[in-house]
Amino acid sequence: MERPNAWKAYDEAALAELDQLCDDYRAFISQNKTERECVVSSVKLAEAAGYVNLADAVAEGRELKAGDKVYAVSHNKTLMLVNLGTQPLEQGMNILGAHIDSPRLDLKQNPLYEAGDMAYLDTHYYGGVKAYHWVATPLALHGVICKKDGSTVTVAVGEEAGDPVFCISDLLIHLASDQMKKPASEAVDHENLDVIVGGRPVVIEGSDDDEPKEPVKQMLLDILKEKYDVEEEDFLSAELEVVPAGPARDMGFDRSMILGYGQDDRVCAYTSLAAQLAVENVERTSCTLLVDKEEIGSVGASGMTSRFFENTVAEIMALTGNDSPLALRRCLASSRMLSSDVSAGFDQLYADRFEKKNAAIMGHGLCFNKYTGSRGKSGSNDADAEYLALVRDIMDEAGVAFQTCELGRIGAGGGGTIAYILAEYGMQVIDSGVAVLSMHSLYEVTNKADVYEAYRGYKAFIKRA
Ligand SMILES: [Zn+2]
Repeated sequence: MERPNAWKAYDEAALAELDQLCDDYRAFISQNKTERECVVSSVKLAEAAGYVNLADAVAEGRELKAGDKVYAVSHNKTLMLVNLGTQPLEQGMNILGAHIDSPRLDLKQNPLYEAGDMAYLDTHYYGGVKAYHWVATPLALHGVICKKDGSTVTVAVGEEAGDPVFCISDLLIHLASDQMKKPASEAVDHENLDVIVGGRPVVIEGSDDDEPKEPVKQMLLDILKEKYDVEEEDFLSAELEVVPAGPARDMGFDRSMILGYGQDDRVCAYTSLAAQLAVENVERTSCTLLVDKEEIGSVGASGMTSRFFENTVAEIMALTGNDSPLALRRCLASSRMLSSDVSAGFDQLYADRFEKKNAAIMGHGLCFNKYTGSRGKSGSNDADAEYLALVRDIMDEAGVAFQTCELGRIGAGGGGTIAYILAEYGMQVIDSGVAVLSMHSLYEVTNKADVYEAYRGYKAFIKRA
């Protein structure tokens, strides 16, 4: 049951559309490296497509009807978009979901110290990272510093051509004989992922008594004060993320791939968003969820397990004139969802970790994972065969290239997604998404045909599911 390479089917028009989508996608992941940045940019795109803030509609008690488009933001990190269809909401929605948080290094709350005449920022890693990836590579700093006066300072350093970057040092090979004998998981200690951010002391004219105890750290504090008007204490209420510096790039002589940070899962998030915005006039209400905290278990107020989604559906139903709790339950249970996260693309260099006929092949289109999990499908949302039949039919009717796959060979490992959380409402959910190489590394690889087929598949699903 070989499925064909998607590139073989493209005519000039399809290739032009693919190029445009992938250019826009590459720019999106280059400019948006945190969940907060993804929300801000996605809201801009949504507003340009006619979406309005649900909070305003609620405040005004504005009636919502078919054709109205609204969005809701939770904690500046999770976004939900809804395009109201002609069918009553009670009959369910067609939902796309993906996550916009990515593995990275978060600054600790008390991060700044000086040692060896250098200033460092101490980090605590977020999500599944191989610590050795993060040393000796240019890094950028993105995030917010919230001050006691209620103001928020936005930080993004290391992306513009003229910006400085940051770096975590690695032990020189000459002194690494002990390190090189360690297993990869221990070669670099996660506690040692401290970012070098300064190497020059402040110099104060006059007596030595006036010299600060830590002059390099003081230099950094002076710069932060001047540039952002923040004090060291303000780190206590900051969310600053260390990410790879620089833009995503086209990859390969044929430019068939994209190399970039955070494609897990922004490749699914961006294509879901683009599909949601592209499809107007729907029968069944369409909804796209771009959520935070998936990489650490979908917990917290901005994670998928919070009540934000359910509450937002309730608000929307109330504005359509139906605030019955039973109608809300029916809506949720009757919905259908593509829960999208990246799949492990088949990698010839690690071929023994895959079972090839059930592996995602790069360039073979949108992936559907009936189940994920590990050790006997444990923790997996195992989609119904009935639902898969519907999804197959939708994809085939729209001519979307797709493939079915598992996350590696049995026993090689495993992973989870947000699918099971939505399935708790009783709705039909299947894991889907785009294949990547080097998942959770600093620079993940996608094939542009898969990005394009994801977008096409999501559009087809919104229209017909
Ligand atoms: Zn993911």
